[in-house]
Amino acid sequence: MPLHIHTPLIESRPLSVAAGRSIWLKLDALQPCGSFKLRGVGHACEVHHARGARHFVSSSGGNAGLAVAYAGRCLGVRVTVVVPQTTTERAKQLLRLEDAEVVVHGASWQEANELAQTLVGPDDAFIHPFDDPLLWAGHASMIDEVAQAGVKPDAVVLSVGGGGLLSGVVEGLKRNGWGDVPVLAVETEGAASLHAASLAGHTVELERLASVATSLGAKRVAERAMACLRTHPVQSHLVSDRQALEACERFLLDHRLLVEPACGAALALAYQAEALTRYSTVLVVVCGGATATLEQIQAWLGALDGVSE
Ligand SMILES: *Cc1c(COP(=O)(O)O)cnc(C)c1O
Repeated sequence: MPLHIHTPLIESRPLSVAAGRSIWLKLDALQPCGSFKLRGVGHACEVHHARGARHFVSSSGGNAGLAVAYAGRCLGVRVTVVVPQTTTERAKQLLRLEDAEVVVHGASWQEANELAQTLVGPDDAFIHPFDDPLLWAGHASMIDEVAQAGVKPDAVVLSVGGGGLLSGVVEGLKRNGWGDVPVLAVETEGAASLHAASLAGHTVELERLASVATSLGAKRVAERAMACLRTHPVQSHLVSDRQALEACERFLLDHRLLVEPACGAALALAYQAEALTRYSTVLVVVCGGATATLEQIQAWLGALDGVSE
């Protein structure tokens, strides 16, 4: 039994009507710890556990860390998550709820990650948030489930942070004989590391991140994401923070599910009929995210209203 669940695949009436075409949702927001991350992280943790790992280490205060904490609890393996001082109280609470040991260290993720590396002993496993073939193989199970359901999309819409989800979905499309199905890869403007790579022709380190979609905040995408751009039809799309936040609010009304702005980015593209005109059946990966609250989303929107015009 894998640690992730087989999630529902539904045809969304509100999104289909808004976009004027058939929009299918893969509801990975319903994974036990709130995001698709459990697919890849759960797989990686199971492999390391089978090899004898007795301690998992993560440096993600977000959904990757939560997935490691959940997997460790299920497998009976101790978990340490090192997070920077900027991590919200809510994120720390969610990690502790999964029985992880939370170590707060450093002003930025880089510093937290450096300490995390020093905690990885010979019998331990460090679980990366997006750059590991074990993760991609696990994320690919999402597309296996869609293929089993017999729904062949003519495009897939998903969000991109470090590109682990993209790499996994492309692997899933290829292994199901769907190598011709294009992927619409969506980022927010302030976290556009894949977009920068697609323009440069190689991965690029962003100078800074400036987006409310913190789960998309990887300064540089994995080399595998770059390889996906070369070997698969992938279109890079950008949306604004406002569009991502408004998509979260609209999706909450339409489907009664609260997702992070990171997921709102993909939903924002799906709500824009113009972006999808060439396709009749579109699969949207509802990647989820557990760290947002409705109050936070409304406060971010309020802050944007304060600065615009
Ligand atoms: C991690 C995450 C992403 C981005 O995934 P990558 O594999 O880093 O590209 C998108 N949405 C949510 C909710 C996430 O947790």
